[in-house]
Amino acid sequence: MERSNFLKLMGGTISLGAVGSVSVLNSLMDTLPETDTKMPVLFVGHGSPMNGIEDNSFSQYWKKLASEIEKPKAVLCVSAHWLTKGTYITAMEKPPTIHDFGGFPQALFDVEYPAPGDPKLAEETAKLFTTTTVGLDHEWGMDHGTWTIVRHMYQDADIPVLQLSIDYNQAPQYHYDLAKNLQALRKKGVLIMGSGNMVHNLGMVAWDKLNEPFGFDWAIEMNTIFKQKIEANDHAALIAYEKLNAASKLAIPTPDHYYPLLYTLALKEEKDAISFFNDEPMAGSLTMTSVKIG
Ligand code: ZN
Repeated sequence: MERSNFLKLMGGTISLGAVGSVSVLNSLMDTLPETDTKMPVLFVGHGSPMNGIEDNSFSQYWKKLASEIEKPKAVLCVSAHWLTKGTYITAMEKPPTIHDFGGFPQALFDVEYPAPGDPKLAEETAKLFTTTTVGLDHEWGMDHGTWTIVRHMYQDADIPVLQLSIDYNQAPQYHYDLAKNLQALRKKGVLIMGSGNMVHNLGMVAWDKLNEPFGFDWAIEMNTIFKQKIEANDHAALIAYEKLNAASKLAIPTPDHYYPLLYTLALKEEKDAISFFNDEPMAGSLTMTSVKIG
């Protein structure tokens, strides 16, 4: 983690940069005109960073999905791997590809995904938030929660990619409510994506089944419950995930990979259809189950 982001996480001295203000609400979203269509919203299970370079069923589906939906004007990703104190949006011209993992082959470290950023869109998006100040970030970029997926979806790297951080000091309801501020972007051609894993317990990984579609009983049970609640639009139950089931703590020992799902669900409107993809367990204690809304 870069020093400045570490400081953000630890609550050290931070520079907020430009901040949102009610007085500029009228000039919002000048960059992208409103379109007739509304972009879907995705929750994508990212799993192992190796999915970033492997041609497997997960990455093949990401590619297929991108060919089926309208080409976005920009991608905004809420990644499980950018946890901060306060909320930030990447606002640089050229977001660097961050290799935030260890112990993987050199080929994975060699990947650069040269998608541009969009500073103006970042600034305008920050202003959409009415309940908190969203800071403009110039030091993060694209962590593996984002680029391992997006490089398969948009191989030409010609679509701007932005990330929104997760304020890790906040409760689940806060994240769900905060995400609703992003709704207007769907009609501006922005593809909003949460990247995490519904069931994610690295401490219980079955090391002998690392690349196998295997899930422990509790992982399958929790994944089934998550899907049922998502289909039933029972977002309140998913926000109160700790009370969902005795196995909640096994599925979500820490909420970093779960919060991106709440960002996605918050953007579901009444008429939006729900479908699941890459619906498979991995390595015992992870599920790749992903959701398309709209
Ligand atoms: Zn991850």
